[in-house]
Amino acid sequence: MFYEIELNQPFLLDKPHDHCGIFGIFRHPKASHMTYYGLHALQHRGQEGSGIVTSEFDSEAKKYRFHFHKDFGLVNDVFRDDKLFADVLKGESAIGHNRYSTTGASDSKVNVQPITVNYRGGNVGIAHNGNLTNFHSLRKRLQDEGTIFQTTSDTEIILHLIAKSKEQDQIKQIVDALNQVEGAFSLVILTDDKLIAARDPYGWRPLAVGKLDGAFVVASETCAFDIIDAEYVGDVQPGEVLVFDEEVLRTGQPKSYRLNTTVAQPHHCIFEYIYFSRPDSKIFGESVNRVRRRLGKALAQEHPVQPKETEKVIVINVPDSSNTATLGFASENEKNGLKTKYEIGLIRSHYVGRTFIQPEQEVRDIKVKMKFNTVKGVLKDKEVVIVDDSIVRGTTSKQLVELIREAGAKAIHFRISSPPIHYPCFYGMDFPSSEELIANVFQGNVEAIGKYLGVDSLGYLSLEKLLETVPHENGETYCTACFSGKYPTNVQTHSKTEHEC
Ligand code: SF4
Repeated sequence: MFYEIELNQPFLLDKPHDHCGIFGIFRHPKASHMTYYGLHALQHRGQEGSGIVTSEFDSEAKKYRFHFHKDFGLVNDVFRDDKLFADVLKGESAIGHNRYSTTGASDSKVNVQPITVNYRGGNVGIAHNGNLTNFHSLRKRLQDEGTIFQTTSDTEIILHLIAKSKEQDQIKQIVDALNQVEGAFSLVILTDDKLIAARDPYGWRPLAVGKLDGAFVVASETCAFDIIDAEYVGDVQPGEVLVFDEEVLRTGQPKSYRLNTTVAQPHHCIFEYIYFSRPDSKIFGESVNRVRRRLGKALAQEHPVQPKETEKVIVINVPDSSNTATLGFASENEKNGLKTKYEIGLIRSHYVGRTFIQPEQEVRDIKVKMKFNTVKGVLKDKEVVIVDDSIVRGTTSKQLVELIREAGAKAIHFRISSPPIHYPCFYGMDFPSSEELIANVFQGNVEAIGKYLGVDSLGYLSLEKLLETVPHENGETYCTACFSGKYPTNVQTHSKTEHEC
């Protein structure tokens, strides 16, 4: 008897999951195409659903029209039909969104973003990366006032607050709404004739601004600019609302508004540097590649590996997220006089598929083998160092160690370019429950974790070294709550939203 299992990336890879990538473009003749490419580059930030909304001026009717297409699936699948761009997604301004959700099958398509409404100020669409921490109280207040919600997403709250604002000017309505929400938000908002980009005062999630052929573009990460040859011009600052309209096209200077805030220091999500963002992106004003390489070097300084039984240690990465940190580790270990060779010892299949297995086989074994294979010649009889960016539950790590052992490694040393994860994230990242985190299962005992994983030694980058290594040139401060439990805001009274993004 055989049964079928679906393999999907988030399930298999034991990693925290990103919550969404956003993109916006103002006044470009190929706005929806550019948004598609931008979303394609941001696919790593959300693989569950994708959507694009455009604004078109109908010169005959002399009014703006919104057009949208969104669905579950990867960007390529959602926008598979070429005709969508010419026939549906018309207009010179657009926003788009890639979504990851924690709720799976019970979720509904209405939660796929961007979310749009029509109110007294015209059409408005929104795409959100982050998680509002006062979601429950705001939703209850709005429901008590008679608001009917289309979705279960926290993002929809912002639209209702805009619609209910007593301000007359639309930008003031948006600023008014954003002054009422708490937590993490990097946003792109499309109105009939404007694109607005906004970032919460803590600046947890990145949000970059670029230019393309005179048009303005906004994206979660700069890799979305590279794909369309847009030029990166800077970041939306924490607590800033940037407005792009016709006048801005003439002046070249976006209009900047400030949110009311008592936040003394932004707190960028340090995990964006460790794992979430692409290494070819610039976030928070710095190259992810450069920071991640430094994290690998710092890890080698704290937890070097010396060859004992062989001439040199073989350092391998867990593709793809630890590639850059591994290069940093290998070069620093060698620099410190320890014979080291960087090798490709694990090959990852990028194809998501399904398989048919016999019930008595271990489902998890076939899953990991469909995703990773070892290069035996590289590993056999070698002292191997595996570098990874993080361990969440430890399930994939344990299986990888078994694969490497099967390939004939003499010794296996595991090095992690972040500290142990102990606490949940309330700012837009999805970790499993605290009880499932391997660091909590073994009460922070690194030796016991190493034993469970089956490695000869295990070393995590310390929180102190992590904080020393990330950029501080412009006085940056960071959120480290999932490692330290020190939340920059009061989260005791908050709970996660049902549908985070
Ligand atoms: S808790 Fe962790 S993942 Fe969440 S924002 Fe803070 S550093 Fe990032």
